[in-house]
Amino acid sequence: MTASTTTRSTCPYCGVGCGVLIDSEGGRITRVRGDPEHPANFGRLCSKGSTLHLTARPEVQAQVRLLQPLQRAQRGGAALPLAWDQALDTLGQRIAATVQQHGADAVGLYVSGQLLTEDYYVFNKFAKGLLGTNNIDTNSRLCMSSAVAGYKATLGADAPPACYDDIAQAATLFISGANPAWAHPILFRRIEDARRANPALKIIVCDPRRTDTAELADLHLALQPGSDVWLYHGMLRCMLEQSWIDPQFIATRTQGWMGLAALVTQATPEAVQQHCGIAPGDLLRAARWFAGVQDGNSTRQPTLSLYCQGLNQSAHGTDNNTALINLHLACGQIGKPGAGPLSLTGQPNAMGGREVGALANQLSAHRNLADARHRAEVAALWGVPSVPAAPGKAAIEMFQAAADGQIKLLWIACTNPAHSLPDQALVRRALQRAEYVVVQDAYATGATARFADLLLPASTWGEKEGTVTNSERRISRVRAAVPAPDLAWADWRIVTEVARRLQPQLPDRAHLPSLFPYDGPEAIWNEHRESTRGRDLDITGLSWAQLETAPRQWPCPEGQSQGLARLYTNQHFATPDGRARFAVQLPGTVADPIDARHPLALLTGRLRDQWHGLSRSGLVENLWAHASEPVAQMAREDMDRLGLAPGDLAYLTSRRGSVLAPVQAGEGLRSGQVFMAMHWGDEVLGGASSTGKRLAGVNALTTAARCPQSLQPELKHAAIKVLKAELP
Ligand code: SF4
Repeated sequence: MTASTTTRSTCPYCGVGCGVLIDSEGGRITRVRGDPEHPANFGRLCSKGSTLHLTARPEVQAQVRLLQPLQRAQRGGAALPLAWDQALDTLGQRIAATVQQHGADAVGLYVSGQLLTEDYYVFNKFAKGLLGTNNIDTNSRLCMSSAVAGYKATLGADAPPACYDDIAQAATLFISGANPAWAHPILFRRIEDARRANPALKIIVCDPRRTDTAELADLHLALQPGSDVWLYHGMLRCMLEQSWIDPQFIATRTQGWMGLAALVTQATPEAVQQHCGIAPGDLLRAARWFAGVQDGNSTRQPTLSLYCQGLNQSAHGTDNNTALINLHLACGQIGKPGAGPLSLTGQPNAMGGREVGALANQLSAHRNLADARHRAEVAALWGVPSVPAAPGKAAIEMFQAAADGQIKLLWIACTNPAHSLPDQALVRRALQRAEYVVVQDAYATGATARFADLLLPASTWGEKEGTVTNSERRISRVRAAVPAPDLAWADWRIVTEVARRLQPQLPDRAHLPSLFPYDGPEAIWNEHRESTRGRDLDITGLSWAQLETAPRQWPCPEGQSQGLARLYTNQHFATPDGRARFAVQLPGTVADPIDARHPLALLTGRLRDQWHGLSRSGLVENLWAHASEPVAQMAREDMDRLGLAPGDLAYLTSRRGSVLAPVQAGEGLRSGQVFMAMHWGDEVLGGASSTGKRLAGVNALTTAARCPQSLQPELKHAAIKVLKAELP
């Protein structure tokens, strides 16, 4: 009999970053429990986290894992095994030939917020330091780049200033464009705890749908899609008129107030009602609660905002973020317990990707690609002559460039763009036109894998070592509880081995010492740590050994060991003069408006018990009990008008594509709205849809229109029509 061992690690699903205890025996994960000592969850787990062990069953994994390197001689042909050495040599030669023929910018790397920080770090260095291209971006572009741009524009740095403990200390929770009851369940448990502990707590939820989160709200602002800035401007106008702003905070800690104050005069209650559909009384109540001037209390009470994709996944995502942060600045609702704008990250390590700068417009440790001094610092750190100055292609631009024939080689790691990117027709054109597509993943089930010329098997949760950072800047260890399958490698190792083969083939890098001398994640993390010295996210006070004992928040500069729970508690924001900036933004509208031909607003989102493209959560039978197939939810009156009964099949058609789905009445929807979850692509895992048809997934309908500042696409909304399907 083998002894059972327990390994402390982190949940691989959402950005809450819950600690888990993994029990294993004989190389098999037998149970997963919440880690009672982890400050994100204190022992709790949601339905997904608590069933992780079921996803790791060897008999289940054997059906879905990519277990050896494979290559295709031609697209559409059989994928045949090859040895790791051959695979690495082939990829190194292929990249070298592409660079030689077309230049480094003909290569694109598309990575993932599921990667660990160390994986992310080496991918970024591979692109910008070794190859000499900034063409690296991540699927985190789809979930948080507007939050990044919003923080930088107002507070001066991409640093969420609040923490989870603030939920319990807030007098008002302003939850906007987020449904934590389903998407961040353990945070929602903390919100419920706060409500129980403090019956006077005010909860405001802004969401076009009446979600489970909205059910808990004292005030649900069911605003029209795309009208967020109108709402925030209207609230600010009320605060101004009622003298609920904080003039001293504005005068001493901010800049740009006058321009914004003049602009928001146009956001009258009538205008807000017209654009948002919010009644004047509700607007005034929201403004008062947000400002913290609640009845019978003379001191200002703290307000914490929690927000996510409803703000970010918009063609005005950055404006949505800055307009919300303006409210915090106007009332001094930041830098104190229970207050501040706290953006929630969707993925487990979107934050880690931001920290290492693995995006097309960023550099390591929150440095800006556009800043020559920052480029020189990173080049010196890496020991390379320079880092290229031209911005790389962000997610949509990268696939557009591949579709146009500019990017010849795509290396895609730990993500499934043939499911998750909007405008799937464009993505498929890109994958078909690219001359060479590499897919590096643990799972072979994603639609993207069908386009791959080379498939590289990666290890996954339960088998990997490294770190992740959650939404409150907390770095946690991820640990291996069982060995990976023989031929599945850690992502950092795959990149390192390709780099070692490629470097001698690149004339301006061949003479340098090895740029990738790593023997494990600790060595990579140490280099990352050094890159943060003197930066806003400085972690030079932390050691790998300290991370072994407990998760820590950044910043944690040399001489400290605990990290800061809250930012900007002193007099200084992260701007050159220490003052936060009010951002001035004009209210916009959705990028893909409804009209007579496409009269319904499609809203997309997550389901409680599933994760992304179902590759992991779809392996657990119990998780299908909540929702077993993709459905289009509609208001009852719209179904009646279109002659649809529950379960009828209907075509949903946007300006870009069409999908077939059964319809169902959605109680939380208003007339004119349709909701569909984003989890299903054109391959339905774990039980076929009742249609018996292959579904193209909701992203056949969504638009590639994106925020000009953050380049985050408007995945949340598309104009569609719905027609009953007349099937034989
Ligand atoms: Fe995992 Fe998120 Fe659930 Fe926590 S809330 S157990 S991190 S999926």
